[in-house]
Order: sequence, then C-alpha cells, then structure tokens
Amino acid sequence: ALALTGCSGQRGGDTGGDAGSEEAAGFEAGSSIGIALPDKTSENWVLAGQLFTDGLEEAGFKADVQYAPASNTVAEQQNQIQAMVTNGAKVIVIGAKDGKQLATQVQAAQDAGAYVIAYDRLIENTEAVDYYVAFDNFKVGQLQGQALLDGLAERAGHDAPYNIELFSGSPDDANSAVFFGGAMDVLQPKIDDGTLNVVSGQTEIAQTATEGWLAENAQNRMDTLLTGSYSGDAVIDGVLSPNDTLARAIITSVQQSGKDVPVVTGQDSEVESVKSIMEGVQYSTINKDTTLLVEQTIKMIGQLQKGEEVDVNDEEQYDNGAKIVPAYLLEPLIVTKENAAEAYANVPSLLEIVESYK
Ligand code: BGC
Repeated sequence: ALALTGCSGQRGGDTGGDAGSEEAAGFEAGSSIGIALPDKTSENWVLAGQLFTDGLEEAGFKADVQYAPASNTVAEQQNQIQAMVTNGAKVIVIGAKDGKQLATQVQAAQDAGAYVIAYDRLIENTEAVDYYVAFDNFKVGQLQGQALLDGLAERAGHDAPYNIELFSGSPDDANSAVFFGGAMDVLQPKIDDGTLNVVSGQTEIAQTATEGWLAENAQNRMDTLLTGSYSGDAVIDGVLSPNDTLARAIITSVQQSGKDVPVVTGQDSEVESVKSIMEGVQYSTINKDTTLLVEQTIKMIGQLQKGEEVDVNDEEQYDNGAKIVPAYLLEPLIVTKENAAEAYANVPSLLEIVESYK
C-alpha cells in the first residue's frame, strides 16, 4: 500500500532535507546519457558534441547527443529532452537554448529518476536542476571589460576620453546578463568618470542585446550605430563584444564603413578570431577550453553513476530563481596577441595557428 507510485528512478534520499545531504544511489554502468545542445552558432557547441560522443563512450556510457535544429529551436529542444527521458537516460546534460523554457522537461527528467546537469548555460525557475557546470561567466565579463580598457590604452593612439559601444548576447541565454554584468563591473566606473563615452547612449542591457547570438543582428546594429552616432569622420575607439562570432560581425561592419577598426573584445577562441588577433585586428578573446568543460561534466556523470559525492566549487552564485544550483566553475583565461602562445599551450590546434604567425 505504501508503494512509491512506480518510482523507477535511481535517485536516492531525494525527499528534501538539508541541501547537499542528498545520498546518491548511483545507477547502472553503461547507461544512456542524454546531451542536449542548443545550436551550432559557435564552434564550442560543435566541438562539445564530438567530445561528449567520444568521451562518454570511452567512459563506458551510451551517448545520445542532440542539437536543437535552427528552426523551432525551443520546442524541438523540449521534445529532444522529453525523448531522452522516455528512453531512460540516467543523466541529461543540457546546454539550454532558452533557459527559462525547460522547467517542464527537467521536472519530467527528475520525476523519472534522471539527474539534470545544466551545461554552460543555467536553466532557470525550476528546482529540477541538480548541478551547473560552466566557466565562471562573471569573470569572463570582467576580463572582457578589462581587455577593452587595456586595448584602448594600447591602441587608441590618443588619451581618454574614448568613444565606445557595448554589445551583449541573446536575452534568452542566462549567461548574457552575467557576462554583461561582469564587464560593466569594470566599465561603469570608467563611464561615470568620463574615461569612456558610450556615444549612442545605449548602456542598458536591453538596448545592447543580440537576439539569438546571431552575427547578422550584431552587424545590423553596428551599421545603425555607425550611421546614427559616428557620421563623418567621428572615431569609434572600442567595442565590447560578448563573443567571437559577434566580434567579427562588428569588425566587418566597421570595415565596410571605411573607418579604422576599433579595439574589439571576444570570447570562445574561435579559429577565425584567433587568426584575426594574430593579425592585429580583433583585440582579445577568452580561452574557455571546451575539452576541459566536457571532461569535468563526464567526471560528474561518473560520480553520479557510482553514487559518489559530486565535485562542486560554488554553492552561492547561481540562483536560478527557484534554488541555488550547486556549480563547478572553471577559470576562463584572457587571450591577446601578446599572451596567445602561453594561453593556448594546452590547445594544440590553436597553438599551431599562433605559431604560424611567428
Ligand atoms: C556561451 C558562449 C557562446 C554563446 C553563443 C554562451 O552561452 O557561454 O561561449 O559564445 O553562448 O553560443
């Protein structure tokens, strides 16, 4: 009569109580692991899919890696996650397309006894997220802000004030606000004291957003900013860009306008941006080594499988609106032309590019 309503799940002791006191019971080796990735707009997502497929198989699991298609993305990702649940995945790792629209699916996963790990992007407004694994996003933003200041001092060719513009990522990605917050933590005091002049006046995150993280949207906004705020020979000294895909779009827009390329930041260490940095065009990027992030995630999956305690190193920053999600955060690294060889010492494919410019 006290049957636990057909609970087939392997999640142990999950009946509330103190946070962190959950006793994991482990699950069968060789189980299926679902990996739901948002899209292929950045190289890091493409690479993550390959690394998960290989790494999980090497660790003895069955890997079910899915990308949300370009159209109807949110609904398709919801369907993919639901299918992983139905197919009995024991852990579902999710790089959310829209972190606010997965509550139903992750709750279904948890109800079926699966663990949910938010990968790179937080899943919001649900208690059914067990862990978060990512690079320290606030730190990424702070490094971008500092790189913009350093680049201006190095390259602008004149003293302050410097004319700049600000870009942020897609509003449906929880990371976007964290990146922007980190950058503004460094830049706002310099805007306030007059060192930096955001000529368009667009400093609110909503004004700076890039829907879908799409290059064309950043390029269009930059075109509009140049026409509206930099007519004639007005100079633009710097642009805060949240990632490499958008950085290159912003640079293209400025080049097409005939103006000198400003100091532009980035993130992800995409091949074309690393080349651009070595050529002295894009100023900076961030090394968030996808290999390390996938390795850490697979390590967490292994710990869950064995019923061991899962490594986390942050239990306060990532409040998703329903709970504080225990997180494992990796250290991002700033990369400029100057430190590129050092920064990519452990990334052979990028090191090779850097060395080809020597
Ligand atoms: C990731 C970035 C990436 C962006 C666009 C963010 O959530 O953290 O590395 O550039 O999404 O794909």
